[in-house]
Amino acid sequence: NARLSPRMAVIGASPTAEISNKLRALASGGAKVINLGEGELDFPTPEHICEAGIAAIRAGDTKYTAVSGTAALKAAIARKFERENGLRYPASGIIAGTGAKQLIFNAFLATLGEGDEVIVPAPYWVSYPDMIRLAGATPVILPCRAKDGWKLTSEALAEALTPRTRWVILNSPNNPTGAVYTNQEFAALEKVLLPHDVLIMADDIYEHIVHDGSFAAPATAMPALFDRILTINGVSKGYSMTGWRLGYAGGPEWLIRAMDVLQSQSTSNPSTISQAAAIAALDGDMAFLSGWKEILLSRRDRVLEAIGKMPGLSALATPGAFYVFADCTGLYGARTPKGEELTSDLDVAGYILDAAHVGMVHGSAFGMPGHLRIAYAIDDDKLAEALSRVGDALARLQ
Ligand code: PLP
Repeated sequence: NARLSPRMAVIGASPTAEISNKLRALASGGAKVINLGEGELDFPTPEHICEAGIAAIRAGDTKYTAVSGTAALKAAIARKFERENGLRYPASGIIAGTGAKQLIFNAFLATLGEGDEVIVPAPYWVSYPDMIRLAGATPVILPCRAKDGWKLTSEALAEALTPRTRWVILNSPNNPTGAVYTNQEFAALEKVLLPHDVLIMADDIYEHIVHDGSFAAPATAMPALFDRILTINGVSKGYSMTGWRLGYAGGPEWLIRAMDVLQSQSTSNPSTISQAAAIAALDGDMAFLSGWKEILLSRRDRVLEAIGKMPGLSALATPGAFYVFADCTGLYGARTPKGEELTSDLDVAGYILDAAHVGMVHGSAFGMPGHLRIAYAIDDDKLAEALSRVGDALARLQ
């Protein structure tokens, strides 16, 4: 369409949102669909957090604030960084925005241009490459291997760095693989990065969802690079607040200032109600989390067990987040009851959608064909039903 900017030609709609749209269309036709494609917890936002949002509305806390968030919110974010990560950011090194997503976008838009490269380890969160392209730069996709636990190795990183590299993205726990990097692994990457003048985007959004091992923040684990690390986080995943749209970042003041300027000309401050709720989340007791993690772990194990029994699928145990990333290449060559041959992860996901009315995201969307991402943060009964339907659908393949 000639009315659209050429900018639109380099990006596509988020594949996870597309799966949800397809499922909604099936559901509106009466099908009982189950979505294992959505990256959010099914738990309600904890009561004390909701109360803080309601109190903000009642107190008339409903007007513009500073673009980068209220002083009270920034103080709560600073306390969180210090308490949980041992990181010290001044208020001028902190910004809140409308979800972690907006902050990542602002950071790229503020720093990237034609000819710049960003190293994106794959599998990656679906939005990084398109955001990089929108900013005029080139995503350099660096495939990681299952045998390395889906983690970027220092050797692969060293090979991929060029004089054009402006950013390296690190996302632990990882979406979609659930990989969690250790302090030692970050230290090895730090050594490689030290002589290169590159920025590091630490997307720590799944910090609180770690089942095996423990979370390490890149900004803590790579102290020599602290001045070049933008730590991205938010309340979406750890507090089940995806719809509140509140993310935050800590980083070098020059970068935070530029992100603030961009935000001032686009969305302005994040919702005041969400800011108030986020203060309650960050300062409040996280006792609810252990119960959530227990439930998530049992769901993860249920998914792994079910996959273990499905011929053609296999998966590693995922240490973090709420995804299982399953290899589906064992199904290639099989034929559906209609006689169609499965030749790609898209075919497999499409067959599962049609035959079982269960939505999963194909690995190609994350830069890793041959896989399916199964988001298991849904109600236990629905999860059991979904797995049983998928098992039945796969059993019908020839
Ligand atoms: N980063 C990763 C790796 C994610 O998976 C997501 C959400 O799916 C985000 C960032 C964005 O989170 P938010 O809801 O805070 O925008």
